[in-house]
Amino acid sequence: MGFSLSILPWIYTAKYINQSWKGNFEEKKHFSFEEELQLSSQDKSELLAKRNELGQLPMVSYTSQYGMGCFEGLKAFPQKDGSLKIFRPDENAKRMKSSMEGLHMPGIDEKVFLNAVKGIAKRNQELGFTPEYASVWEKDNFLSGHSIYIRPFTYSEAAIGLGYSEAPWFIVISTPVSSYFGTGSSKAITTDRIRATKRGTGWIKCDANYVIPTLAKKEAEQQGYMEAIFLDSMESKYIEEGSSSNFFILLNDGTLVTPSLGDTILPGITRKSIMTLAVDMGLTVVERQISIEEALDAGKECFVTGTAAGISFLESMTHKGKTKVFNAGKMGELTKELLLTLKGIQYGSKEDKYNWMVSV
Ligand SMILES: *Cc1c(COP(=O)(O)O)cnc(C)c1O
Repeated sequence: MGFSLSILPWIYTAKYINQSWKGNFEEKKHFSFEEELQLSSQDKSELLAKRNELGQLPMVSYTSQYGMGCFEGLKAFPQKDGSLKIFRPDENAKRMKSSMEGLHMPGIDEKVFLNAVKGIAKRNQELGFTPEYASVWEKDNFLSGHSIYIRPFTYSEAAIGLGYSEAPWFIVISTPVSSYFGTGSSKAITTDRIRATKRGTGWIKCDANYVIPTLAKKEAEQQGYMEAIFLDSMESKYIEEGSSSNFFILLNDGTLVTPSLGDTILPGITRKSIMTLAVDMGLTVVERQISIEEALDAGKECFVTGTAAGISFLESMTHKGKTKVFNAGKMGELTKELLLTLKGIQYGSKEDKYNWMVSV
């Protein structure tokens, strides 16, 4: 698992004051990249802990007490020519704005968002803190490729009563990542926990939505599975999402199905991109409800998508004691083609015909 909390030196903070966003870039304490590699683990963790502090944030707030906050996740990819490109940041900007407005905060200006994510990626690259493109990644079609994970998020003003954040902070940090899921199990199991309910916040990328998926995922892992699959809250019949990823299934009849969006499903940018790529490959892609029974009966290949993992194939799915193995437990051909196409676009080895990649 490639996530660690090695926050890179340049961060961005903005606050909503007098009806507008006032922001700036901040260079947190650091040595050179090489010097930091030489630090003792204690010195390194002290330095990283310092980078994870922001003095002006209040301890008691709507965010720390009630989970009133939201966030984004996007990635910057090193390119062969030495540049760095971000995957569809305009989509993350739009979703961040709608998430914030969904929590009745002032939404981030999309231009402020783009300027912030590009700005910190560029500044950290100039400092030498960004992984450099490595030709060896081409050997496994970039499955071993490194990237920079960018995490924009909100944090509210000081408060202890219930309320909307009227003067939130908008903060952007970043951290290097290798590949997300290990090479271990890629088995999934349905959970009887409920992630999102009708008229709830399932469609918002908000902090509070992550409590239940974390419990479900950890429970699945304890039973030897990689991923927990959520079913709908009304009938526990239709597939909704993975723990923090969208769900796809290729049926025996050749159609690719993903649950249709509603207020309980997070509109993933990887999901949207995979649908575009699959249509391009000539597939019939259908957004509709799909029951767990149908998936177990008629599923051929199955995978989940999200920025962190990209595409993760599911070798099997277990529901009420019954296990369906997809494609003899191996990554299916379509899943592989989609994965390689997506990675190829992101690392610049395949044509970016939709102009998804944005230079920093
Ligand atoms: C972020 C997220 C996803 C994936 O969205 P991407 O834009 O593809 O990263 C899927 N489900 C949930 C619940 C999420 O929070």
